[in-house]
Amino acid sequence: MNMLISVVIPVFNEEWNIPIISNSIASLFNAIPYDYEILFVNDGSTDNSLQALKTVASENKHIKYISFSRNFGKDNALLAGFDFAKGDAVITMDADMQHPPELIPKLIDLWQQGNAVVYTYREDKNEHAAKMNQLSSTFFYRLINHLSDVELEDGIADYRLLDKKVVAILNNLHEDRPFFRGLVKWVGFQQTGIPYKPHARATGETKYDHKALVRLALQGLTSFSVKPLNIAIYLGFSFSALSVCYLPYVLYSLLYGKAISGWASTIVTIVFFGGLQLMILGIMGIYLGKLFMQSKQRPKYIIDETNIQ
Ligand code: UDP
Ligand code: MG
Repeated sequence: MNMLISVVIPVFNEEWNIPIISNSIASLFNAIPYDYEILFVNDGSTDNSLQALKTVASENKHIKYISFSRNFGKDNALLAGFDFAKGDAVITMDADMQHPPELIPKLIDLWQQGNAVVYTYREDKNEHAAKMNQLSSTFFYRLINHLSDVELEDGIADYRLLDKKVVAILNNLHEDRPFFRGLVKWVGFQQTGIPYKPHARATGETKYDHKALVRLALQGLTSFSVKPLNIAIYLGFSFSALSVCYLPYVLYSLLYGKAISGWASTIVTIVFFGGLQLMILGIMGIYLGKLFMQSKQRPKYIIDETNIQ
């Protein structure tokens, strides 16, 4: 009996990429001694992705699909894939061919050598990404690493292989909006990473605009530590210390009749502390919101249809 590898692919408006990636994965697995299933998760596409999935599934019995009732986000699509994947190992990759399928045999080899997680990271990010994107991504990982308790490598991608024991753990975490890039590192076990050169998207365009990236960054930060809450305490202490230093000057001004000249500094102080308080309230609000969403225990996705029996 060959081992079974599940390839989980989230799909959001990728109708043209579906046949391309299906064919390339199928021909790869024809050359190696492993069974495979490709599990597409249609995340509420508004184009003909579902139709495309039905077509490829009718041509290749290794292809399964799950179709959501609406868009639930990529992380929830991955989670659904984990719930339904039957493989001894699960590979997650994007539908747009940016994650080169040629690496799959290498991922499997490293898994066979005893790694429970084989992740990938982009090398040479410059080649296809614009300079600006690279900058913001580097900044994003620096910020997360600095502020949170898991160490992420710059450019780490959602292209990875997970042993089924890791998949089982991820299935049992009932986190609202799981942040896989952090969670996968957090589970531990023997892990290794390999670099890859991202290709250009085969067809279509990216689903992540700048707003979505900022949301992702905040989610990454606040799912992994409460350090941002500590910022509030440090800032509070620093500014009370500063105001103590300011006191002699205030007294001096009072004694020598210059008190009225303090208008500018008053305004500056009000504006500054107003902003600071809003920022800290915002940070607390995010954590509170997480508790709120978590407490509702809603399902993370709703399946409309699937060809999995
Ligand atoms: N995706 C998804 N749901 C979403 C947005 C994206 O399932 O709400 C999928 C998308 O179809 C693709 C993968 O996630 O397979 C990565 O998306 P994209 O290529 O747009 O991101 P980028 O490569 O630009 O970071
Ligand atoms: Mg992409």
